[in-house]
Amino acid sequence: MDGMSASNDPTAWKPASLRNKLFIGGRWVDGVEGGTIDVINPHDGSVITAIAEAKAADVDRAVEAAQKAFPAWSSMAAMDRGRLLLKLADRIEEEQAELGRLEALNTGHPFRDTQILDVPRTAVTYRYFGGMADKFEGSVIPVEAGFLNYLEREAVGVVGQIVPWNFPLMFTSWKMAPALAAGNCIVIKPSEITPLSTLRIAEMMQEVGIPDGVVNVVPGYGQTAGARIAEHPEIAKVAFTGSTATGRTVVKASAGNLKKLQLELGGKGANIVFEDAFIPAAVGGSAFAIWHNQGQACIAGSRLMLHESIADDFMEKFLGLTESIRLGNPLDPATEMGPLTSKMHQQRVLDYCAVAREEGGEIVTGGAPPDDPALADGCYVRPTIVRAKPSDRVCQEEVFGPFVSVMTFKDDAEALEIANGTEYGLGSGLWTADLKRAHKFAGALHAGMVWINSYKRVNPGSPFGGVGQSGYGREMGFEAMREYTHPKSVWVNVDAQIPPYYPR
Ligand code: NDP
Repeated sequence: MDGMSASNDPTAWKPASLRNKLFIGGRWVDGVEGGTIDVINPHDGSVITAIAEAKAADVDRAVEAAQKAFPAWSSMAAMDRGRLLLKLADRIEEEQAELGRLEALNTGHPFRDTQILDVPRTAVTYRYFGGMADKFEGSVIPVEAGFLNYLEREAVGVVGQIVPWNFPLMFTSWKMAPALAAGNCIVIKPSEITPLSTLRIAEMMQEVGIPDGVVNVVPGYGQTAGARIAEHPEIAKVAFTGSTATGRTVVKASAGNLKKLQLELGGKGANIVFEDAFIPAAVGGSAFAIWHNQGQACIAGSRLMLHESIADDFMEKFLGLTESIRLGNPLDPATEMGPLTSKMHQQRVLDYCAVAREEGGEIVTGGAPPDDPALADGCYVRPTIVRAKPSDRVCQEEVFGPFVSVMTFKDDAEALEIANGTEYGLGSGLWTADLKRAHKFAGALHAGMVWINSYKRVNPGSPFGGVGQSGYGREMGFEAMREYTHPKSVWVNVDAQIPPYYPR
């Protein structure tokens, strides 16, 4: 039931019911050690609920449940697995408003964004992979005469998934949908800061008939539950999204049983505006690239690079748009920018504002929480524009907030040097009317994804992931199905006469 019926004030919404236990083997259970973790509303610091805390022993229980469910789930007809995912997609769409409010309440995403982006993208991801389940084919390899050699794709087994706090609904769908379509069972750890939508999706999975034990949800701290997933000897693969530093820890912990790994790590996206760009589109697109979700996106266009001949004109328009963005309670449909997702993260972004000042950067706007007393208890930071040098820390390190570093360049060679001048290689974008230049840059940019005259486009069919310190492996599309399966090569002697190797 949608709690909106109780009041006409959208900001007074409360979820009618909340799942706040661990979900293991189809049951809602407390952690073995009995601890709980408060889940905080980033708008005002109030406690939404306390969730059961998963520790290492709970991860072990979840792995056992997943192992038990695996034989039946992996051998179920692919079409039937797909059908369950399609039902889930429909279910998510039916509850679009309620799921969107829950995500807004827990993460700070404006409700407006959850309705046009998070929830629809989550539904289409389950639908895409539901359709994919019985269309991901093996192949026949043309080997020597008399032999049939075929390749089939087998589910990996029990997979561990570690998901951060910035896009919980969407990121869990990007990980769970292909894993399930391919026949794997899952132990997933959402961030303990934002577990609520993942728990609700698990409940919906049970409602549409996904068998018990196929998906197990263990919210807990990274150092305990996360670390156990990374090292667990019976987990065959880990898919991780988060910081590059934690990604390295996961790689080390996975060595014990040589897990298959997929790492979606940080980024420092270059968003390049050339002198021939259509400026109104570039201004709007650049604003979306950094301000959407308060800049808490690995693919955010956090380095805005302007050709020196259009920089002043662009900045005037970009600043005007930025200063007009409506900050406020994420549950209010008029809100365009909500709070950051936690107090700790708000402080981290404010610390980077201090770093920018120390480095001699010019803070053009923002750099502080808003003055509005109604937002004083929340994790808000005003959208911040800083003029900086390419070598500055604020142009090299991931701030992960409403913070854009602006630089200028004089020609294409300099633009490419600056764009490729960080350790990351996730997503980058460029704005130009010259398609020859656009394709040249798309080839030369050190990035897993490039957007031309747009930014931050994602689609369940299009591979998502990075190079360099942004990680490896890909989410979405056929690539994701490959990540969640092993290729098995089978040789059949159909009609081959094999000369004896030891003639006697
Ligand atoms: P982390 O990389 O620390 O966390 C990501 C996930 O990993 C969380 O679920 C976390 O749990 C878990 N985790 C932490 N330690 C371990 C471990 N030893 N073994 C296994 N799992 C672990 O990111 P933060 O949340 O601390 O954010 C810090 C910075 O990381 C951000 O400011 C941003 O720069 C970057 N980041 C990038 C993201 C992206 O989309 N690429 C997403 C999130 C963060 P827990 O929540 O308990 O720490």
